[in-house]
Amino acid sequence: MVRTLGILGGGQLGRMTALAAARLGLPTHIFCQHGHEPAAQVTPHVTLGSFDDEKKLAEFAAAVDVITLEWENVPLQALALLATHKPVYPAPSVLAITQDRVAEKTFAQTHGMGTAPFAACHTLDDVHKALAALGTPAILKTNRMGYDGKGQVVIQNIHEAEKAWNAIAQQSAILEGLVDFACEISVIIARDGAGKVACYPPVHNRHTGGILCETLAPAMLSAGLEAEARQMAETLAHALNLHGLLAVEMFVLKQPAPDGKNIVMNEMAPRPHNSGHWTMDAAATSQFEQLVRAVCGLPLGSTQLLHKARMINVLGDDARTAGQYLSNPQARLHLYGKDEIKPGRKMGHVTFLEET
Ligand code: AMP
Repeated sequence: MVRTLGILGGGQLGRMTALAAARLGLPTHIFCQHGHEPAAQVTPHVTLGSFDDEKKLAEFAAAVDVITLEWENVPLQALALLATHKPVYPAPSVLAITQDRVAEKTFAQTHGMGTAPFAACHTLDDVHKALAALGTPAILKTNRMGYDGKGQVVIQNIHEAEKAWNAIAQQSAILEGLVDFACEISVIIARDGAGKVACYPPVHNRHTGGILCETLAPAMLSAGLEAEARQMAETLAHALNLHGLLAVEMFVLKQPAPDGKNIVMNEMAPRPHNSGHWTMDAAATSQFEQLVRAVCGLPLGSTQLLHKARMINVLGDDARTAGQYLSNPQARLHLYGKDEIKPGRKMGHVTFLEET
């Protein structure tokens, strides 16, 4: 029986997971760097350390029964070490794929899914060759550690190749052809230790500058598209042998691909996801509670949508005026307790409820 759930990472996703666990009577223990981080504020059990501090990692592992994570870039070495002490869900083998854009897209293709056309680039020469093969415009992205549009540059013509390569600090990269999409959607799916899955309805996402700004739940898709999106998430969850939660970002194509498919996989994250925050207020079980259930051996909850919902992020300076939402009875405000406002930083979110 799980008595204490360990969470790697101190951000808002860890905070909301810890709060969901508390509701089920389960204490959480956070591993993060600073005591003021959002997750560390909501539980008294915190180990402060960095992911290369083996002693602190072992101390943390000794204090918990099961370990999950709220940041998908936890170094694999740290995960492997922790896994020698306690179960780590999702398994390090899942993270090895999702931390690497080339591995992730290759994995999706191996399991029958379309992706943007891509090529791995380790040198500027590789970038030139990939541009010749894929054409322009294209996007150059760091292969690892990218998030919220960081570490990616659009290349409009071949003359911009060197500038783009320098802009991503000449790191190992992926060059992707631009997908002509009708809209962006995502699907969040949970899979438990016995291989049972529970999938939330696909949602429609809008990004500005690479950062999610709005999610509409549910995405207004035809029955065929909805089934295709759910099937993709389910296939990936099983193929990864996932134990935990997986968010899959997808592009709905304007024109079907030659193989007849209408949706391609863009990115996966084996953790709660910004596009699932609406579930806290508008689904039968929140994505955070679902993660807790999946990794603690509890039955998965219903993913039924109770209200239509629209979620917006509270970014940067918008946090100063977020109190305005408190007077709107349809709005549910969530602030993450971050001590410093920075431009574009995710400070909170608001979910607006509509009757279904
Ligand atoms: P990512 O970090 O891969 O999720 O990219 C952030 C955002 O950039 C996506 O949500 C899309 O809006 C856009 N984007 C990324 N890759 C592509 C692509 N290959 N084609 C078109 N748009 C893309």
